[in-house]
Amino acid sequence: MREAKLHHILKETFGYQSFRFEQLNAINSILDGKDTLAIMPTGGGKSLCYQIPALYLDGITLVISPLISLMHDQVMNLKEYGVDALFLNSSLSYAESQKAKNKVLAGKVKLIYLSPEGVLSGHLDEFLSQVSVSLIAIDEAHCVSQWGHEFRKDYTRLGELKDKFPGVPVIALTATADEKTRTDISAQLRMKDPSIFVSSFDRPNIKYMILERKEEMVQLNEFIKANHPDDTGIVYCLSRDKVERTAAALKKLGHPAVPYHAGLSQEERSKNQHLFNTEERIIVVATIAFGMGIDRPDVRFVAHLDLPKSIESYYQETGRAGRDGKQSSAWMIYGLQDVVKLSQMLETTDADESYKKVARFKLDCMLALCEAAHCRRHYVLRYFGENRDGECGYCDSCIEPPVQWDATVDAQKIMSTIYRTEQMYGAGHIIDVIRGSKNQKVTDRGHQNLSVFGIGADKPKEHWNSVLRQLLNLGFIQIKNWEYRSLSLNKKSLQILQGGEKLNLRKQDFAPEKKSGKKSGHRASAKEANHGNDALFAALKNLRNKIAREKNLPSYIVFNDKSLHDMCQLMPASDDEFLMVHGVGHNKLENYGEEFMGLIGQFQE
Ligand code: ADP
Ligand code: ZN
Repeated sequence: MREAKLHHILKETFGYQSFRFEQLNAINSILDGKDTLAIMPTGGGKSLCYQIPALYLDGITLVISPLISLMHDQVMNLKEYGVDALFLNSSLSYAESQKAKNKVLAGKVKLIYLSPEGVLSGHLDEFLSQVSVSLIAIDEAHCVSQWGHEFRKDYTRLGELKDKFPGVPVIALTATADEKTRTDISAQLRMKDPSIFVSSFDRPNIKYMILERKEEMVQLNEFIKANHPDDTGIVYCLSRDKVERTAAALKKLGHPAVPYHAGLSQEERSKNQHLFNTEERIIVVATIAFGMGIDRPDVRFVAHLDLPKSIESYYQETGRAGRDGKQSSAWMIYGLQDVVKLSQMLETTDADESYKKVARFKLDCMLALCEAAHCRRHYVLRYFGENRDGECGYCDSCIEPPVQWDATVDAQKIMSTIYRTEQMYGAGHIIDVIRGSKNQKVTDRGHQNLSVFGIGADKPKEHWNSVLRQLLNLGFIQIKNWEYRSLSLNKKSLQILQGGEKLNLRKQDFAPEKKSGKKSGHRASAKEANHGNDALFAALKNLRNKIAREKNLPSYIVFNDKSLHDMCQLMPASDDEFLMVHGVGHNKLENYGEEFMGLIGQFQE
């Protein structure tokens, strides 16, 4: 009975055929009155996990969202689906906010979007005491956790909602899955024995590629020209300055690129964000300020010109590609200077030491991904706690296995040094001993007298850092004490130390080098096959874009490309047929059915 009704809402309102991942389980858990934690990759469909219960339940759902732009987007989107939603935040004038409240009190609203400050400030207490709240949804819930990568102080107080709204179930949603963040979220939000639903993090339509930096702009230009000449994409850079330079360089090369960073005027940022939402083909070159609230489903590539500071960030940023499920690329170049730059940035912040420790560890994991000799996707999935064997077949390591070198002897040197120094020290000290540095820490402990002192003096520090990171990443050594990050040996180390097993690692080559002119050879795979009827598709796109312009909406909110492809294939000629199109519910049928079917009719023979 309940399930039929939920499917009905999914179909009639949102126009989707079936629930995805753990959506239905999460929804059922909420409707059973349980606190719920839903972990789903970006683009996985977290919003429906609370939007459908909001429509199912009597009363009102409060949605706590960290950014005003996110709220705007969600509300605009819901309105297009015919759902009564609004936001109450600091962007509204007094009169607007009064009007919104009256609408709520008249029983005309199902979802209210609020900021954490807004709901906790007390300003809304009197108003909220007059409405019947049946569910609280906390979006981007990783913001409560220091372990999350977007920690927000105001999020840590959200546990107080349990006092303000006793007995109301809470659903927390995030794309960050690691164990620590998860535990933190439920503790901070004072969730009672929450049901936890984790959906797979795999994004099988995204192809991962990570290259060493040689000539940045040449490499980027070649990548775009070979794989995405007509596509929309995002290029991430670390600094504002580099954003400006890169956007200008891309423009010069004939690509439609615009910059986006927090140093631009509000006006220019809105303008470029708007271009990103509405232009057929556009490349936004941005700092991570361009992030949350990007909903465009047909971003075909995300390129990183600088290393993100953690795998969480990398995964969230690359996750903005291919939300429509079509083949897309996540492309990155990196070099040693990234590590230096990021480490410096970290060390010069005034964050406390425990935060820095976590951050250093996360950066190391990110580097280990770059250096991984095996499947990139599986490395990332393992990081998020999903174990996979074998190869994915759709990342650079799988498609073109990297050149490897025999690292057995160097691994033995590291392990011996860890052993000789009694498994009490971290990477920095171990490498100092191997390279024969007579610094004070070494001499104070008499380590210059060990047999391993200086056995690796012939190779640079970076080399040893890289080998050590990979040993750690592959589980051949381990961190014994997290506080001091001291390293120790384990069973796997013995296989190598005792000479039984060989160890091959990815060959690193940081020396600048001219591009070898070799073709990538995968051109066809990154481009989607056209869905038959090109002329109809183009006409539908035109119509959609025209409507979007008239209504001043991003075009994908009217219909995304997947819906248009569906129309080309189904060629709907009646209301019932039109409802079968992906993303078409009653509201969209009513608003657009006639016009689109009229156009399709012209293409029917
Ligand atoms: P996120 O998890 O990043 O918040 P969204 O909730 O924005 O993701 O959903 C991403 C896209 O997937 C949206 O276009 C949404 O309408 C679509 N979507 C969500 N659930 C389904 C479903 N069950 N079937 C088809 N599309 C869905
Ligand atoms: Zn792979």
